Amino acid sequence: MTQQLSGWGKTPASFPAKLIQPTSDQEILEVLSGPLRTAPRGLGRSYGDAAQIAAGLVLDLTRLKPTFELDEKTGLLTVSAGYSLGEILERTLPRGWFIPVTPGTRFVTVGGAVASDVHGKNHHRDGSFSMHLSNLELLTPSGAMTLTSSDPAFAATAGGMGLTGVVSKITVKLLAVETSLIRAVTVPTRSLAETFEAMTRDDEYTYAVAWIDATATGSRLGRGLASFGEHAKIDELFGRTIDQPLAYHPKAVATIPVSAPSQLLNPLTVRLFNSAWFQAGAARCGEKITSLDGFFYPLDAVGSWNRLYGRRGFLQYQVVVPYGSEELIETIIGRLAAGGHPSFLSVLKRFGEQSMGLLSFPKPGWTLALDIPAKRPGLGELLRDFDRRVAAAGGRVYLAKDGRLDPELLETMYPNLRKFEEICHNLDPEGIMATDLARRLRIGGRH
Ligand SMILES: Cc1cc2nc3c(=O)[nH]c(=O)nc-3n(C[C@H](O)[C@H](O)[C@H](O)COP(=O)(O)OP(=O)(O)OC[C@H]3O[C@@H](n4cnc5c(N)ncnc54)[C@H](O)[C@@H]3O)c2cc1C
Repeated sequence: MTQQLSGWGKTPASFPAKLIQPTSDQEILEVLSGPLRTAPRGLGRSYGDAAQIAAGLVLDLTRLKPTFELDEKTGLLTVSAGYSLGEILERTLPRGWFIPVTPGTRFVTVGGAVASDVHGKNHHRDGSFSMHLSNLELLTPSGAMTLTSSDPAFAATAGGMGLTGVVSKITVKLLAVETSLIRAVTVPTRSLAETFEAMTRDDEYTYAVAWIDATATGSRLGRGLASFGEHAKIDELFGRTIDQPLAYHPKAVATIPVSAPSQLLNPLTVRLFNSAWFQAGAARCGEKITSLDGFFYPLDAVGSWNRLYGRRGFLQYQVVVPYGSEELIETIIGRLAAGGHPSFLSVLKRFGEQSMGLLSFPKPGWTLALDIPAKRPGLGELLRDFDRRVAAAGGRVYLAKDGRLDPELLETMYPNLRKFEEICHNLDPEGIMATDLARRLRIGGRH
């Protein structure tokens, strides 16, 4: 089935892409044997141009679902790349198995999770998604192959932003849990130093994340709410009797029906919102049992939440900086606040060991993600300056969130770039696999 691409991540109208929705490996291999530049696409939750290609073919892989096999004894799940993490959870959680690494939305496909080598709130303990795979199946212009983590093509595919081929299936080791609930604790912090300290101190919990009030300045700069979580065990439910401790019924509670006026999120309203959120969170701190979706996927409860930003939209800026470069996080938050670029949602997490993925984003350090209303005067120059400082400090920008990085900085941020390009060239000498992101960043000569 072929149709014009529309929706989240639309291509420029003057260079429309063709959308193809394959349901089998065979159909995909046929497309890849043709002459047209082809971009794999999952649920389109990457923020920039990673899953689109102007004047090319976009392979919408969300219908690729021939395989779903769970070994209930070992927790090994073999699953087609078109399944979303949410669909997987609905089938595995009632049987006591959770996904080992999950991003902040369940609306991502398995293929998208591999291609971005996604991280969760447990990266400091458990690493990224690809580190939990036993193998993956990759369809390339030169044929199909099964890869394990020792294969160079596996290292290029994990975090490879869809440029090595199409991931059609993976086998992943799931995590055994007793309930679908989370034992969570929130700690208010009054400054950035306190936030770093809280995040480093508490190693008792598997999951750790801090929401930051990015509008606070002066001595309160970087204040926030540090949250920690652990899968609740049955005997930790504080005397609550729960009939079905593994029940899982996610639902959206509200939908933003139309785009909000662009001026809704201005420096004043964002400051008021952040301040109210901080006060409310600080008042509710302490340990509690909470729903899995409330802890991992708060934004999924609000359908089309991106419309809050109005027609001008927003961009997400996510970087990682090595431990020891904490002052750079302070500079980024401080200069955005001082420059009148309010971040509505700002999140700080800790990263542990890097995966084998050659273009994988996470590396040991702090990662800061900021949702910033777009197209405000001076924002572009400010972010370019941050990019240069992040690169100089040994950090990098997350490609799954990017739509604006200077290609000159790419190799400094991703030192394995040339090795990655060499492997791509061996798998795909004609450069069939391509995306607008690869063209913009001139990866592998795909411009
Ligand atoms: C609210 C929200 C919260 C998020 N939180 C996090 C987070 O905490 N951590 C994190 O790491 N990310 C996070 N993300 C980003 C998201 O996890 C990634 O962008 C992910 O790749 C999106 O998956 P997708 O299925 O939507 O893929 P798409 O956005 O459609 O594609 C992303 C990339 O994967 C490639 N791709 C897709 N399917 C395949 C396939 N089958 N084979 C090969 N390549 C493929 C595409 O070509 C593209 O390069 C978040 C995004 C949102 C919207």
